Formats: sequence, structure tokens, C-alpha cells
Amino acid sequence: MSARYDAIVIGAGHNGLCCALDLARAGRRVLVLESAGQVGGAAQTHSFAPGFQVSACAHLLHGLPQSLIQEFKLQDHGLSFAATSMASHALNPDGRALRMDPPQVAGSELPPADAAAYASFRVRMARYADVFATLFSITPPRLTLQSWRARWDMLRLALRLRLLGKAPLRELLRIGGMNMYDLLDDNFHNPLLKGGLAFDATLGADYGPRAPGTVLTWLHRLAGQQQAGARGLAQPQGGMGAVCQSLASACVAAGVTLRLHAAVARITVQQDRVSGVLLADGTALEAPVVLSSAGLRSTYFGMLGVAHLDTGFVRRVRNFRAKGLVAKLHLALRAKPHFNGLDDAALGGRLLISPSMDYLEQAFNPSKYHEIPQHPALEITLPSINDPALAPPGQHVLSALVQFVPYALGPDPEAAKAQLLENTLATLERYAPGIGALVLASELLSPADLERQFGLEGGHWHQGGLTFDQFFINRPVAQSHQYRSPVPGLYLCGAASHPGGGVAGWAGRNAARAVLQDGGRHGT
Ligand SMILES: Cc1cc2nc3c(=O)[nH]c(=O)nc-3n(C[C@H](O)[C@H](O)[C@H](O)COP(=O)(O)OP(=O)(O)OC[C@H]3O[C@@H](n4cnc5c(N)ncnc54)[C@H](O)[C@@H]3O)c2cc1C
Repeated sequence: MSARYDAIVIGAGHNGLCCALDLARAGRRVLVLESAGQVGGAAQTHSFAPGFQVSACAHLLHGLPQSLIQEFKLQDHGLSFAATSMASHALNPDGRALRMDPPQVAGSELPPADAAAYASFRVRMARYADVFATLFSITPPRLTLQSWRARWDMLRLALRLRLLGKAPLRELLRIGGMNMYDLLDDNFHNPLLKGGLAFDATLGADYGPRAPGTVLTWLHRLAGQQQAGARGLAQPQGGMGAVCQSLASACVAAGVTLRLHAAVARITVQQDRVSGVLLADGTALEAPVVLSSAGLRSTYFGMLGVAHLDTGFVRRVRNFRAKGLVAKLHLALRAKPHFNGLDDAALGGRLLISPSMDYLEQAFNPSKYHEIPQHPALEITLPSINDPALAPPGQHVLSALVQFVPYALGPDPEAAKAQLLENTLATLERYAPGIGALVLASELLSPADLERQFGLEGGHWHQGGLTFDQFFINRPVAQSHQYRSPVPGLYLCGAASHPGGGVAGWAGRNAARAVLQDGGRHGT
């Protein structure tokens, strides 16, 4: 059986869907193929115990531009929010929590000097993040800046940097490659405040707060958050899967054909250019353009095959680092838990267990030796507080990101996971006494589980580390950094590409633009 499309998109995660939608809106006949039985990839809602639903990987929406929601009319396609502008609460076991509600921070023990420093720090960083955000929509240029578009993009970036003013620009150049630990130590005294801020710089990254490059990851996150505008940190109604459901609905309305349970086994090549795909069930589908939102290695090694690539490129792909350090914990709770020092309203926010930067660094250290942390750092949400339909009446769901959990869990991964669950519950118990007795069911997904279940390569937040050597012009690897690949007609459109992951859609949209610029006849 054979059919023909202008473009085939592999993967119905949010990037694949954004890419398909942009192509369809430009008049292309698009087919999206998803191996799983539902759309969403690492942004989906799933059931982990009877009556309990949770966002399986990503659980908070912070980087999806408001402009994208409006342009794609996602609210007409069912997207709504159970909570917006959610505050973050940095927790102490003794209940002295800090409420971080950008641009303010409040807490009974917070020195006034830190509160004032926080406000001015956020203003300064917001200006840098604003410039940083310019990068998101830019296709990383070739070093020779061959196209007028690339020259214009770089000029625009240089202008944004220049407009910062001399002193702020000098400061940005000073801190850009720094570590978050030193930056926060330069600005604040309160350990809890520093621990809470540093947490965000390491979330989904491959390192602790003392590593160079952590300011970069923090600015990356902040730049994404600023695209959300007044919505701020948000919880979609029905979980993160609702974002992708609305994107899928918009795709179908725009004429995209979407097939679930359709795993691509091969990307086919004829006369040195892409000719389509072969599904695992043997179905051949033709298209002059194939875009993959799957991981780098599964695209190039698994589906395309190294026979089509030169050895230098193969080596670069092999060396691309993608080993996630975030595990996901889901708890079904028989009743609402109580956290020391928090009122009921705060339970609908984002709770952080990272009481100091040293705590965070110590939670990171064992991962260097493929070991699990005794005292993990946690980002916790109780989604059923804002969206009661996620749990049976009166009961609740807890969703937590658990840092730092290595991809390789040693000779007995199940035993390591059991120990990690015990360590995490013991940590939670210190902040929420009695929570252990409320647990009806639990699910703990290690990075390797996340890869197996949701196709996220390396179980990594960004489908590959977001470090200086894997960022912008270096992302994912040379000869594949402009969404195009060494094989004409094959493009990348997922988080492995610039500007990385988080539910934001940039990689998918930038890839669609590359295809349209090439006129669907990619031959360079
Ligand atoms: C534990 C965890 C927590 C996170 N929390 C957040 C958060 O709170 N907020 C946030 O913004 N981001 C978060 N992220 C990051 C975010 O989830 C990802 O960066 C983002 O979802 C990646 O989207 P994508 O579309 O690029 O790729 P994916 O979502 O990975 O989509 C790729 C799709 O391709 C499909 N696929 C792969 N191979 C094939 C094949 N051969 N044939 C057909 N289909 C195929 C997969 O099934 C998948 O659906 C988190 C990530 C993790 C791991």
C-alpha cells in the first residue's frame, strides 16, 4: 500500500504537532505518524492508578508562548487552564517557607536586604532573558553567515545586546558562563532563597548548581517563562496532555492526517535523498520531506541508518550526550496532605524541596557515580487541588520531579528504584508529616523508564544535554544544526534541536520554517 504526502512528521509530541500545523497552514499535505496510542510524547496525561490521572512527564506549562496559543487558537480547540500565575514555595522542614512569586519574594525569616535584592535581581535577569529569547526563533546560522536571513538574525541579536547598555552588557558577558551557585552567593544571603533559585537552574539539566553553564540554563528557562506573559506558570485543565490534544485538534482542522499506533521503522532513501518512510507493519509511505521529532540517535542510527552518513557525522551523533537526571514520582493520596507552614491556597502552587544550594549539590553528587540520592531535590505539584477531576472525590494526586537520578541504575535497577522511592518518601515525610500514610498507590519512573514509555531519548528533558557545547550553533551537532540533515529531504523538528526542550514548540516551528524556506525541495 502506498500513499503520497508533501511531508511526513515522525512523532506527535508537541513539537511534531506544531511543525505539522505550520506546514499545513502553509498549504502542505502533512501526515503525522505516532508510535504510541495517544498524542503528546513527553507532554501527555496518563492514568497510573484506578481513578487517578497525572501529567506523565512535563507537569507545568511555563514556556509555551502566549502568542502561539492565540495564533493556533488552541482555546477554540479545548485548551483551558486549571491554574495560572502559580507561585513557587521554597520549603523548609520546620515550616519557614518562602513564597516566590516573581517579581516578589516573601517569608517571615527573609532578611529585608534579600527581599530587595531579589526584586532588583529579577528585573536585571528579566532584561537578559528578554535578549536570550531572541535566540529561540532563530535558526542557528552557519559560521559563514551565508544567507541574508542569517545576517539579519545576527544583526537583530547584536542590536538587542547593544541596547542593553554598556554596564548590563558587560555584566551579562561576565555571568553568562558562570555557575548559579556563585552568582546567587554574590547576590543573596538566605540559604532557602538561594536553594529555590538554584533548583530552577538545574531542573532538567545534567549538573549541580556549581557547574559552569547553570546560569545559561536558568536564563533559558526564564526566557521561556517570559513568553508565557501574564499566564506565568500554569496547569492546563486535564493535565499537560490537554495542550497536545488541542494541538492535535487544530492539526486535524487544518487538514493534517494523524495516525496513532504507527511506528516508523525506516526512513527510506532513493538516489541519495529521502523518499518516505517504512512503518513497522510494513506499510510504505512516500514524501519528499520527512521531519523527525524523535531523538537524535533513534533518527539517524535507528531509522535512517549509518550507511547514509559519513563517519565524522556518525561520531558526532554518537557523542551527543543525552542522559536524563530527572525521575518522576506519582502518588495517589487518600486525602489532602499537610505541608509544614503552608496553607491550603499554597498547596495549589509549586512546592520546592531544595532548602539550600549545598543540599542541591549533595543531591546531585551521587549521580556522578551512577548512584541515587539519599535526600533528593523535588519539584512537587498537587494537580488535583486545582483540577479535582484528576482524582476520585476527596482524594488527591501528587506529581513530583525527583532530582538527580542517573539513567543507568546499576546491576539491579528495580532495587535502586525501590530504594529511591523509600528515600523520596522519607524526604517528603520531613516536610509533610503523615503523607506516607495517605499513599494508596505510587508510580516512580526513572529516566530509563521515561525513555521506554514516552520515547524521550535518554529520558532527558531536552532529548539531550543543554550545555554550551550542545547549544545554538552546536545543537544537536554540526551539519544538523539548522534542522536540516546531511541527507536532503530529512529534517529534525524535536527537542534535540535548537533551542531544546520544555513544552514551547520552537524546534517544531523553526523546522517547519526551514522546510518552507527550502520550498520542500531541500537539496543543500
Ligand atoms: C520528567 C520530566 C519532566 C518534565 N517537566 C516539564 C515541565 O514541567 N514543563 C515543561 O515545559 N517541560 C518539561 N519537561 C520537558 C518536556 O516534556 C520535553 O522537552 C518536551 O515534551 C519534548 O517535546 P518533543 O515534542 O520535542 O518530543 P517528545 O515529546 O519526546 O515527542 C516525540 C514523539 O515521537 C514519537 N516517536 C519516537 N520515535 C518514533 C517512531 N519511530 N515512530 C513514530 N513515533 C515516534 C514518540 O512516541 C513521541 O510521542 C519534562 C521532561 C521530563 C523528562
